[in-house]
Amino acid sequence: ARPRVVIVGGGAGGANAARALLRDGRVEVTLVEPEPRYVAVFHSNLWLGGFIDFAALEFGYQGLARAGVRVVPQRADAIDRERREVRLADGGRLPYDRLILSPGIDLDYDSVPGWSRAAETVMPHAWKGGAQLRILKERLDAVPDGGLIVIIAPPNPFRCPPAPYERASMMAHRLKSTGRGGARIVIVDPKPKFSMQGLFQEGWEGHYPGMVEWMAPDISDGLLSVDPGTGTVVTGFETYREAALVNVIPAQQAGTIARSAALADASGWCPVEATSMASAMDPAVFVIGDAAIGGDIPKSAFAAGSQAQVAARALLAGLFGEAVPSATYASTCWSLITADDAVKVSGLYRPVDGRIRELEGTVSGAGEPPALRRRQQEENADWYGAMVAGMFG
Ligand code: FAD
Repeated sequence: ARPRVVIVGGGAGGANAARALLRDGRVEVTLVEPEPRYVAVFHSNLWLGGFIDFAALEFGYQGLARAGVRVVPQRADAIDRERREVRLADGGRLPYDRLILSPGIDLDYDSVPGWSRAAETVMPHAWKGGAQLRILKERLDAVPDGGLIVIIAPPNPFRCPPAPYERASMMAHRLKSTGRGGARIVIVDPKPKFSMQGLFQEGWEGHYPGMVEWMAPDISDGLLSVDPGTGTVVTGFETYREAALVNVIPAQQAGTIARSAALADASGWCPVEATSMASAMDPAVFVIGDAAIGGDIPKSAFAAGSQAQVAARALLAGLFGEAVPSATYASTCWSLITADDAVKVSGLYRPVDGRIRELEGTVSGAGEPPALRRRQQEENADWYGAMVAGMFG
């Protein structure tokens, strides 16, 4: 019989890993994923801005099943690493020779005083899952002209470093293009700087003058609390009352299943071998995507796809006694500021002294010509098309 590889999580990491293993053909691939449809949160900001339909974010697992993956529509409840078994929510067990975990993130509901899991329907995070995205969009569409939006940005490290700021841009675009240019978006940030900061700030000034305000921690004096009942956000500097929308993006950590299997360290994320994405805690388990601590590599869908390739090659080499190929990782994140104005940050990464290190990085320049920014948005759309076709096609 062929060796059994079980993958937990059918997102950017897991679906790409399944494809890579199928292409090789020497192992049996089982994918455990409870959601019937994946919602690609990684292009959700474009939907928020009104550039694409929700249908462009949703995918089923039929393509992977047709291609030969055994898709198990269950939640993985526990991992027995000694017996090499995944325990399913329905009590079933899946034995494995190698396990790939790509469960994404968990939100830390205690990281924002006054906020809670119960409050996420009133002050949505919209950082995972389709239901949250729809709540955010409904509330955005209900913001009146002159209304106030507060975005609570997360501390590092978190899923997709430029995404809160792309989200602010897309909210501003949506408001302005629907006659609500008098609305204001305040970003309360615990970080003194953020990804592509100069480019975003230049874009906000140019496209949305007076609409987007970024509160660095030394200006806001820190977030003290939120009150979902009244739409209040209290910082050391100012109290924002009756906000029409508060988007709380809390602190994050590796998905529960990875942490409960004791694959995370004190940081809440899973350390991995830089050459293979194998767990530092267990050589039979590979942790990829956002749940892993990727050294210098950001938590992005692009990076998760790249980690999936490295993990699949290393896993196969280990199983079949071949030399482990050298690892190279890549990530590019495009961010749309307004229609046809996209900026990007890219990096190439290799293992150096046991850590994944950035070898080369590039970022868009200030004041680039509109034609280049337009081309970058086309690149973004092409990348997304290829990514989701690779995962689900
Ligand atoms: P996910 O894609 O979240 O997949 C995890 C899967 O695991 C889910 O389907 C979940 O249901 C499943 N799962 C969890 N627990 C279990 C369990 N116990 N049993 C079985 N299944 C389980 N990245 C980019 O590259 N470019 C972008 O432009 C970009 N924009 C973004 C914008 C926003 C607003 C956000 C929030 C993110 C963005 N990202 C972007 C980041 C990207 O979405 C993530 O980095 C990527 O999805 C990580 O892949 P993953 O496989 O780790 O997790």
